[in-house]
Amino acid sequence: MRIILQNLTKTFPSRNKKSNEEVVAVKDLDFEIPDGKLIGLLGPSGCGKSTTLYMICGLQKPTSGRIFFGDNDVTSLEPEHRGVGLVFQNYALYPHLTVKQNILFPLQNLKGADKLTKEEMLDRAQKAADLVQIGELMDRKPSELSGGQQQRVAIARALVKTPRVLLLDEPLSNLDARLRLQTREEIKRIQRETKVTTVFVTHDQEEAMSISDMIVVMKEGVVQQIGQPQNVYDDPDNLFVAQFLGTPPINTFDGVVAGGTLFIGDDAVLDVPASVPDGPVSVGIRPEGFIPDENGRFSGKLVNIEVMGRDCSVVFTNDSSRKPNVRAIVDSDIQIIRGADNTVRFDLKKNKVFIFNAETGERIRFDDSDKSVRV
Ligand code: ATP
Repeated sequence: MRIILQNLTKTFPSRNKKSNEEVVAVKDLDFEIPDGKLIGLLGPSGCGKSTTLYMICGLQKPTSGRIFFGDNDVTSLEPEHRGVGLVFQNYALYPHLTVKQNILFPLQNLKGADKLTKEEMLDRAQKAADLVQIGELMDRKPSELSGGQQQRVAIARALVKTPRVLLLDEPLSNLDARLRLQTREEIKRIQRETKVTTVFVTHDQEEAMSISDMIVVMKEGVVQQIGQPQNVYDDPDNLFVAQFLGTPPINTFDGVVAGGTLFIGDDAVLDVPASVPDGPVSVGIRPEGFIPDENGRFSGKLVNIEVMGRDCSVVFTNDSSRKPNVRAIVDSDIQIIRGADNTVRFDLKKNKVFIFNAETGERIRFDDSDKSVRV
């Protein structure tokens, strides 16, 4: 099912009794979720992810704008008529019912033409349970299951009505790190098998990047960028997106462009086309964008080298860095040569360096056909 969000805005009355100012939770969302894909809705706490999800499922009504499922305008349709399955962070299972009874629950209230026989219901519940690999646990109560198993039950319960759209609100947040990893792979598999259009809300960029066909990055209720995870990582539209995606995070610096050269401090680190206007800029350099070279154009003072198997993390300081330390990830075979005063030097991979307007944070693009400063 293709979902179209058209100029969607949601405002709430102020919680502060003394002020009449409204809270704009979501502003002018305008994008399409393709049929059968898994979309990651991503952003920091309070950016409007859950509000967006609740508007798609109908639990919240938009202040303005429209929502379409395929060609049907569902903006004023009640949640139970939208054909959506919803899974929350806290599983929300009925503790006194068994796994089987929990999964059967949504089927027992079906009416009219949708009504199923007992055999049909049991068959559907078993298939949903098998899909999420809890078919053996049907007679247990939720308290007898691990967190990961409970979340699988919640997913089976959401899938049993064969929804047109599956909505997952931070479904992995209550799981420990190992289960989180395992369950996110499961969700990807289930989505591939069922091909149900799925919207996955998370504030964890790594989680969203790893399972989504497409990510939507939001900040303060406004969409910042939409695209395939790798494309957004490689080609961020603004400083916020560049900083939000990637572990370790992108290194940021105060820089200056002057006469076709990008300066960080006194170092002339990169040649840029004359079309890039002179003046102060914000610079982002991905950790994998540094090439150790004793004659390199970019310098810093070495703090530490952390070997992590195949790669090593070179930690150094630079006076123009916006954080105390800069982190470069390089191949651990490469020898890091320290100059006088612990100076380390690098050349930069041009496609890993991003320049942003110093005030607005908007990306200033330049030709990146050349992959490094020196070939
Ligand atoms: P989190 O990751 O913390 O759940 P989120 O990105 O899902 O955050 P939302 O829950 O959608 O964000 O909230 C977006 C904004 O709208 C926040 O500023 C929030 O305080 C505000 N908001 C949400 N629900 C209400 C409400 N019922 N009344 C007033 N303000 C609200």
